[in-house]
Formats: sequence, C-alpha cells, structure tokens
Amino acid sequence: LWQDVPLAPPDSIFQLTAAYKADTFPQKVNLGVGAYRDDNNKPWILPVVKKATSILLNDETLDHEYLPITGLADFTSAAAKLILGADSPAIKEGRTVSVQTISGTGANHLGALFLSRFYKFNGTPKVYLSNPTWANHHAIFRNVGIEPVDYAYYDPKTIGLDLNGFIEALNNAPERSVFLLHACAHNPTGVDPTQEQWKEIAKVIAAKKHYSFFDCAYQGFASGDLDKDAWAVRYFVAQGLPLLVCQSFAKNAGLYGERVGALHVVSADQETANRVKSQLSVLQRSEISNPPSHGARLVSLILNNPELFEEWKRDIQTMAGRIIEMRKELHRLLTEELHTPGNWDHIVNQIGMFSFTGISPKQSKELVEKSHVYLTGNGRISMAGLNSKNIRYFASELDKVVQG
Ligand code: PMP
Repeated sequence: LWQDVPLAPPDSIFQLTAAYKADTFPQKVNLGVGAYRDDNNKPWILPVVKKATSILLNDETLDHEYLPITGLADFTSAAAKLILGADSPAIKEGRTVSVQTISGTGANHLGALFLSRFYKFNGTPKVYLSNPTWANHHAIFRNVGIEPVDYAYYDPKTIGLDLNGFIEALNNAPERSVFLLHACAHNPTGVDPTQEQWKEIAKVIAAKKHYSFFDCAYQGFASGDLDKDAWAVRYFVAQGLPLLVCQSFAKNAGLYGERVGALHVVSADQETANRVKSQLSVLQRSEISNPPSHGARLVSLILNNPELFEEWKRDIQTMAGRIIEMRKELHRLLTEELHTPGNWDHIVNQIGMFSFTGISPKQSKELVEKSHVYLTGNGRISMAGLNSKNIRYFASELDKVVQG
C-alpha cells in the first residue's frame, strides 16, 4: 500500500526556517517567516492578550463544551464590525453572514468551498489571483476544484503596482469572474493600491459584475490603524459590490497558533443571507463540526470590552510602528550610508509585514548561502525579522550582493 505515493516537496518557508535554525553563524538573520518578532528577535505575546488570558483563566462560568457550528456569536459579530465598520449598513440590514473559521487559511478554504458549490461560474470554475500572491491561495482553490488564473499585479520595473495590467485583466475576464483581492498589506509584495486606484478597480469590477473575494490577514498590522486598513473592503461594500471577506487574527493579535478567524459573506438581502448561512453551516459541519473556543473567546473579550480594545489598538501600533521604523532605517542605510546603487524608495512605500526588495533569485540565493541571511528566492523579506541589532549587518550584506 502507498508504494505509488510520490514524495511531495517540503514547504519552502518551513524548509528555510529549518535551515536557519541549523545554522551556527552568530549573525544569521531570518527574514523568511511571516511572524512578528520584537526588537530582540523574540515572538511577542501582546500585553492585551496576556490580560484577556488571565480573565478567561479566572472565569468559573466557562467550560469545554462545543461552540455552535458557526462559532462564538459574540466573536463573529464583533469581528464583522471590525472589518466592515461598526455602522455598516450590511450588518444593520442583517445581510452579512459571519462564520468562525480556522484562522485566515480556514476562511479562505470555507469561502472557496462555498463558491465551488454555489457560485454560478461563467464556464469552468476559475479564480483570478494576483501575480504573485500568497502561495497557499493556489493550493486552497485547487483543493476544491477551482482553477487559479493569474492577473497582472506587480510590476518588477517599478517594484510597484501594475495598475494598467490589473485593470486590463479585470476588463478581459468574462463577466462574473471571481477575483481574489488582498484587503491590505499585499503578501508577498507589500504593494497596495492607493484609495484612488481602488476606486478605479471597483468601477471595473462593478461594470463587469465580478465577485470580490477579499483576503484580509493584516488589518491594523499594515498602517497601525484598523479602520484605514479596512478602507478597501468598506468602500466595496458601500458601492454595493457582491463580496466576501476572509479575516485572520493571527498577525494583528499575535494569535498564530490559536487559529482565530472568520468568513464574512455580504449578501443583497437578509433572506439570501439566511440561506447562505444555512449552507455554510452544512459545509462547516462536515469539515470541522465546530470551531475551537479558546482563541475566539480571547478575541471576543478584546473586541467587546472598550478598555481592552483601546489597549489592543496600542499593541497593534507597537508592532506596525516598529516595522515602519525598520523600513525607514533600512532605506536610510542603503541610500545615505552605503549609497547602494538603484532606487530604494519602494522599501518605505510598501506596507505591512513583507517587502519585495527587487533583488534577483541569484542574489537572494547568495544572501542565504554567503551571508547567512535567510529569505525566499523571490527577494521577499519579512520586515519583522529586522531589528536594531541586525539591520546594519543585513543592509551591508544586501549592498554587497547588489554591488555584485
Ligand atoms: N492570507 C494571506 C495573504 C496571508 O499572508 C496569510 C498568512 N500568511 C493568511 C491568509 C492566513 O494565515 P492564517 O491561517 O495563519 O490566519
């Protein structure tokens, strides 16, 4: 049995982390994994999460019973307000369905599965993904029989957005196509449309009746402002565009391993929303029966308690602020101290956890092999891996590979 099962390649990011761990070089730097690190390169438990954890531990009324199939209602309703806005008409009119999921990955999966069953695709089921995108998007849609197709997004010449290519792809796709959009802090490029560009994108999406599949894994983490990072989603809802949103609390609450997320489907009216909810419940039941309770209780406490919510916003600013500082410092070192050839403005223009440096796969490999700086072959660096102690070393090694 299983003799014919081919050996699958290891996940490239996890392989990179293993190589970093095995490296004994004292100045080694890990810029691969997308998880926040503090200035001492340590994982950071948010102080507000510590506080919420101790409240839960002392709550004698809690038990380990199953949550409802669609999750903890206090969590999902607060999570919907967080992304769509507390005054969102889509919530007030009862046409938003929110289901608790296994973090953002689970939200993407449940959303994709729902589309595979119920979306009226124009021809064979396809989803348009930005080129490039989070690698897992391809696998998640393929798993449910939806074929991924690339749309132009990143322009290597400007290390910025290829808006014309993006608009052209929206125009050329058949009507009612499904487009996956990164709500903010695009992974892996760190390149986001401006608000004016989002308006142009929304106009074409409306004209072509496309469906927007928003993935929001970094709300608050990008700019430090939860509302600002939700702008695109809220604008699309205000325009009456059909959409869903996948939401993750892995990064913005530092709850990676707790797997806290939600899927929000915005429908045209309450009656439709009820039918959607009934089918999402059926799908969720066969997949995981019920979502896990601990992380959802933590986030529910934080979102529903005004004091904890204010504290969380400060914690988010601590993380986003440190990353923004690292961007500025890297830019300063490259341009003012090292006079590294080329334009490095993209380092400060990009947003969120990741930065696309614009270096080649060969230069990336050189950084790994000669400098003990671990990054993916596409030149993407996790800004969270930089700190006041290693940034100078990284900048000078980057300078060396660019100088050739
Ligand atoms: N979408 C994107 C674009 C991401 O970058 C990530 C995290 N790397 C996720 C979804 C999902 O992460 P998680 O399942 O940990 O919430």
